[in-house]
Amino acid sequence: MIARRTILIKLPKDKCDTAYIRRLMALTNLAYRGYEVWVPDLPKTIQYQLYGSFKNYMESLVFGTTPKKWFAETWIPLKTLRIYDDGSRKGDRRASVVLDFRSNIIKLRQICKNEPRYVITIPMPKWVIERVKEGGDIKFARIGLKDNEPYLALTAERKVKPYQPSNYILVIDVNAWNNGITWGLIKGGIIIKWKPEIPNLREIDNLYNLSVRLSREYGKLKRMGLEKTEEGKRLWKKIKKLRRRLFAKLRDYAQKLVYRLVRKALRHKAFVIIDDMIEESRRELLEMKLPSGLKKLYLVYTKRFVRLLITQLEWYGVPYKFKRLYSRKCPRCEHELTQEDGRVMVCKNCGFKAPRDKVPMHWVIKFSNRLA
Ligand SMILES: [Zn+2]
Repeated sequence: MIARRTILIKLPKDKCDTAYIRRLMALTNLAYRGYEVWVPDLPKTIQYQLYGSFKNYMESLVFGTTPKKWFAETWIPLKTLRIYDDGSRKGDRRASVVLDFRSNIIKLRQICKNEPRYVITIPMPKWVIERVKEGGDIKFARIGLKDNEPYLALTAERKVKPYQPSNYILVIDVNAWNNGITWGLIKGGIIIKWKPEIPNLREIDNLYNLSVRLSREYGKLKRMGLEKTEEGKRLWKKIKKLRRRLFAKLRDYAQKLVYRLVRKALRHKAFVIIDDMIEESRRELLEMKLPSGLKKLYLVYTKRFVRLLITQLEWYGVPYKFKRLYSRKCPRCEHELTQEDGRVMVCKNCGFKAPRDKVPMHWVIKFSNRLA
């Protein structure tokens, strides 16, 4: 199986011509649709990449799904050249992205500005060195704009064979973000550990509410035509900073949790069972008294968490499976469970009782007994 992981690297804006990158993105969009447009004032090397080898290479682009909208923003796929410590080379000699592991730098040729031999150099991220150490190879790169800021995306690729699991099972039950994620470690049919992980919601709510309040104030200024004043600009800066902090908090939380869960699986050579957020918890979240923007944010980050988790499980060869687990159905007699105070679930039929977040773990035991 081929596993891939991608990192985004912000490029120095003062060294990049965003208008040029935007033009290349438009050409890429056309190339995806099968149109060849040769532009006389653009470097031939870039255009060859788009229309020559790119067509074959497009097939392997898991990340490069066909753009949905005409002139939608499409990142430019680029080839890479890798120069390793011992001087050996891999990739295309004329590639626009050169990863030099001897001096730990990345050189970008001709893709940041339309000037002959224009090169910018950025430091090699630690992420790249770690992935290469794990046996990965950076075969693909993309450049593009996100919120008008230039970025480089590097994709590491690695061939992995999932390991043979031990008798440990790691269950990951994904609820809507507000109820967090619950994990449980099962060994030979016994729950040896389980824990609900809930992000610090108050902090996130506060940041969200503050950014909404300031946005309203900014809207008022805008309606009066005052958004370009000192006050308006200051307010806008503050809003952007708040939003960045909010997204960083959510992202950070998801990343750290994924990291810990993957380590846990690796340590025990566990088989991983994931119960993705289902319609039920989605509906539950939508019915909650939360601002709609915040609900949307929670949904987005729950999905991201799952995506991130899968990417890393695959990268490290952790065998996993999605399985629908129940929290409202009795794992002993399949009778409907009743929820009591403090999220405790009780079966009126057979007397089974467990915290709601623990019920899915009992289901896993039931399933694994059935298999054994
Ligand atoms: Zn029961």
